[in-house]
Parts: sequence; structure tokens; C-alpha cells
Amino acid sequence: MKVKNLKWGPSGPRPLPQGHKSWLAYWTSNYGRSVSVCKNKDCDNIPSDGGHVMPLDGKRSNNWYIVPLCNECNSAKNKQEFEVERRHLVGISNQLS
Ligand SMILES: [Zn+2]
Repeated sequence: MKVKNLKWGPSGPRPLPQGHKSWLAYWTSNYGRSVSVCKNKDCDNIPSDGGHVMPLDGKRSNNWYIVPLCNECNSAKNKQEFEVERRHLVGISNQLS
């Protein structure tokens, strides 16, 4: 599914939930295992961050997700939509907003 990086959303990143040292660690503990490849389907780099992304369907803009991304895909320069697998998305709890 197509997503866009929420670095470019209006409200910025949400606060990291307690007990996790990074968004990538949050993703790993919720997903159940770590991964070694950036989850942008067009990218094979090593993931460095848990990137904040939002699906492009527009109707669920409050649904934010974390997905492992490399530096490049999570960079301020990457404003393009990209394709990820839905099963790789870990939701951010609404109570954090
Ligand atoms: Zn990447």
C-alpha cells in the first residue's frame, strides 16, 4: 500500500511510548522480530529508524503507523509516496496523540 512519510505531516512525530528506546525498538517489540531490510519495497538498505507513515487513503488520517526505514527513506529529502506491505505496519496508539 502507498504511504507517505509523516515527517511532512502537520503535527510532527508523536512522543515515543515509555519503555522503548527508539521507534525502531517500538516497532520490533510490537511486530515480534527485528528486520534487516528497509521496508520501502523499492529499497534494500539497512533500516535505521522507525519511520512515521500515513496511508494515502485520506479518510483515516489519524491512523499513523511505524515502519522500519533506512536513513535515506526517512530523510527530509524523501517527500515522495512509497510502497510498503500492510503487514509491516505497526500502529501508534491513539492515546498517545
Ligand atoms: Zn530505504
